[in-house]
Amino acid sequence: MTSGILVYAETSDSRIHPVSFELLGKAREIAEKLGLEVWSVIIGFDVKDRAKELIYYGADKVYVYDSEHLKDFNVLTYKDILVDLVKEIDPEIFLIGATPLGRSLAPRVAAALDTGLTADCTDLRVDEEGNLIQIRPAFTGNILAHIKTTSKPIMSTIRYKVMPMPKRDESRKGEIVIKNPPEKIDTRIKSLGRISKRTVNIADAEVIVSGGRGLKNKEDLKMLEELAKLLGGVLGVSRPLVDEGWIAKEHQVGFSGNTVKPKLYIACGISGSPQHLAGMRDSQIIVAINIDPSAPIFRHADYGVVGDLYEVVPKLISMIKRIKGVSGS
Ligand SMILES: Cc1cc2nc3c(=O)[nH]c(=O)nc-3n(C[C@H](O)[C@H](O)[C@H](O)COP(=O)(O)OP(=O)(O)OC[C@H]3O[C@@H](n4cnc5c(N)ncnc54)[C@H](O)[C@@H]3O)c2cc1C
Repeated sequence: MTSGILVYAETSDSRIHPVSFELLGKAREIAEKLGLEVWSVIIGFDVKDRAKELIYYGADKVYVYDSEHLKDFNVLTYKDILVDLVKEIDPEIFLIGATPLGRSLAPRVAAALDTGLTADCTDLRVDEEGNLIQIRPAFTGNILAHIKTTSKPIMSTIRYKVMPMPKRDESRKGEIVIKNPPEKIDTRIKSLGRISKRTVNIADAEVIVSGGRGLKNKEDLKMLEELAKLLGGVLGVSRPLVDEGWIAKEHQVGFSGNTVKPKLYIACGISGSPQHLAGMRDSQIIVAINIDPSAPIFRHADYGVVGDLYEVVPKLISMIKRIKGVSGS
């Protein structure tokens, strides 16, 4: 029997997180090199109908656990399901998105299976000998570690937006296996409801205007936000601004924040540290505004403006307003 690569399909309100499709695309590529199948597992409520989406994005077989008591993510219940499934189907490789949910689930599954886990990978490759090489930033992003695991299954979590999104192909065929969900058990974890909703989804934004330590005070973020809004985008920041408490972490771009891949990334008063670059270097077009011509960000920018952001940004805002015919320009 052909073995496989298992991909965990993360859901929220029965919607599949796009990182799962990215992982299926990568799994397909590796599976073809290693002669494996691509399997996926989806857990939740009302998720049965979603299984075919996973096939359209590359799965050969999808295991479905669908039950009302699985509606809300419960790390212990989900962990037990995944551990039992892995023991039953014995995949060679198991991939999980490095989302907040995946980061809490994967280590528990790996520990229960007594296998290794390479967390937060940014790429996966197959070497000449057919080994899976897991690539991830190390030493705060200054080097890229290439990791080979000898335990089985090889388990990795992979960041969102680092792998290309595969094409959705409705002509793909695959098998859907409906599994009996386990009985509801008392995990002593009770969901009391959601206390907050994300206000910004920076990872999916097409335009990001980011501010760094070149900003003199918190209020000046409003100026960058205005530019972002005019361009149909969102506000990003470098980490020191989050550490200062100026803005929520969901706006942070970089190694310990979000990985982003917008069409346009405008970095204002950001020096271009390896940790910041780790989160945005794959943006399609990078524009840097910085007073220091030797700032490292200019080495990665498609367009650079050597200048004071307090002069350049207001000019950009009034130019765009003029072009758009917005009053106040
Ligand atoms: C474990 C670890 C994880 C980290 N994770 C992240 C992360 O996820 N994201 C992140 O961003 N950082 C991260 N960092 C921090 C990182 O090392 C840098 O300290 C940080 O990115 C620097 O932010 P900055 O570019 O805004 O500030 P600075 O490096 O201080 O740069 C400010 C820039 O603004 C320019 N400037 C000043 N005034 C103006 C002006 N008026 N107009 C235009 N330009 C001006 C300056 O020339 C300078 O280049 C991490 C660090 C560690 C150790």
